[in-house]
Amino acid sequence: MESIGFLDDRYPVRTVYTNSSDWSRYAGLPPSEDRRKALQAYLGTPIDQLTYAYETHSGTVLAITSVVAQTLTRINVSDIPSRIGTYDAMVTALPRTMLCILTADCLPLFLYDPQHHVAAIAHCGWRGICNGIASGTVGVMADRFGVNPQHVVAAFGPAICKRCYEVGDELMEAFATRFSKTEVAQIFGAGRDGKSLLDLRAAVTLELRHSGVQPERIHDTGICTFESKAYPSCRRSGKLLAAHQQMHSGIMLV
Ligand SMILES: [Zn+2]
Repeated sequence: MESIGFLDDRYPVRTVYTNSSDWSRYAGLPPSEDRRKALQAYLGTPIDQLTYAYETHSGTVLAITSVVAQTLTRINVSDIPSRIGTYDAMVTALPRTMLCILTADCLPLFLYDPQHHVAAIAHCGWRGICNGIASGTVGVMADRFGVNPQHVVAAFGPAICKRCYEVGDELMEAFATRFSKTEVAQIFGAGRDGKSLLDLRAAVTLELRHSGVQPERIHDTGICTFESKAYPSCRRSGKLLAAHQQMHSGIMLV
């Protein structure tokens, strides 16, 4: 497990992302209680609950309030990690509630507002980005939690990089519905054999900047899941990985 020092070293927030071997001792879907204890031991701070998004590459964001959290605590009694609705991002002002997503090439986006002490996490694949998941998450932080986007600090966890993410030209058309021609040219590069290369980080950066997030407040771990075998990659594996094989990313207020 690793944390994003850019956030954890400066603010009262804890982040974590796992590598391929962190959950390997668990067969099948690990019980949430085991995960919670392992994450708690790593971070050295209490975690009351883990909340997982049920990811569908949507642009939908869930604001977690105290009322919802009480429901989640009951759900968490189950051996299965609680997965709430079809949301690809979550925002909360509740302490000790770890917001979790699973990825294996898509970009985990960690967000924090030091002024209002609000944390968020978003699962950013190409579909989700085209559905506005990154800007939507900042929008919920602003609308529901009073956050000024200019104060938001953002970090990118490990994700497939712009040298490795070969895609078909049809994706360019999808991005053209959301981004200007100039921006699409920044998001896509030329690959081999007439293929295009997609830069998820560039697309999310543009979305964040559209939302008012300051460029100097955006940090990138710089890790490519496709190149580094320490991290799960659907592309490298040639298949969709099961939930327990994917990378777990979490953010929590302390
Ligand atoms: Zn790469």
